[in-house]
Amino acid sequence: MKILSETIALEKLHELKTAFAETITTGYGHRAKNCLTCETQGACCLDAHFVNVHITRLEAAAIESVMTGWTEERRHVVQKRIEHAIAVYELDADGETFSKTYACPLFEKGIGCLVHKRGKPLACIAHGCYENKEDLPPEDLLIEQEGLVEKLNELTYQKPATWLPLPIAVRLSGLLHFSTEDGDRDQHSEKNDVIPDRKIAPGYRLNKDPEEQ
Ligand code: SF4
Ligand code: SF4
Repeated sequence: MKILSETIALEKLHELKTAFAETITTGYGHRAKNCLTCETQGACCLDAHFVNVHITRLEAAAIESVMTGWTEERRHVVQKRIEHAIAVYELDADGETFSKTYACPLFEKGIGCLVHKRGKPLACIAHGCYENKEDLPPEDLLIEQEGLVEKLNELTYQKPATWLPLPIAVRLSGLLHFSTEDGDRDQHSEKNDVIPDRKIAPGYRLNKDPEEQ
């Protein structure tokens, strides 16, 4: 089996996700609710009863690489939120991981998804709020992309990909080694009126760059 370096695999992952985002935007997104005018912005990412986004090791490496480019201050805040989410929502790498839900620590009020440009999980790219179920992107589209991401993982790490809750996967990627004592950094959706008809995993499609804030 041909081995890919992580650097090359991350580029391929980015290309794959960019193409997938284009497919979703042009083919389906125009029928979804506009995130920029959404009155519950962030509900899709912060609903701790709903969010269960899982990612692979390579995607965690992509998120880690985005975080590495942040200011120390932002990285610290998000690292704390990740650890807090793991503790509060009892996230784990073992067992029925998809049954646990959490408020995503990568959501930033006033900005949106902090990894929108290069680290956004597939499920989040596919997500949107649709009036009609028929307008949702077909599930097969996402499944196909997940298969491609699994292949990239295998070519890079030489073992089958494991899907883990995002906070766990990012922590395991090696960046986060700190205590959980700063326990007040959790964030919640302020409203419970999350739009229905969502797919299993949420997303958030504001296009602001956190470094432009
Ligand atoms: S995806 Fe999130 S921000 Fe966009 S319309 Fe739905 S709840 Fe609002
Ligand atoms: S889009 Fe996904 S990764 Fe980004 S903040 Fe929302 S749930 Fe988290």
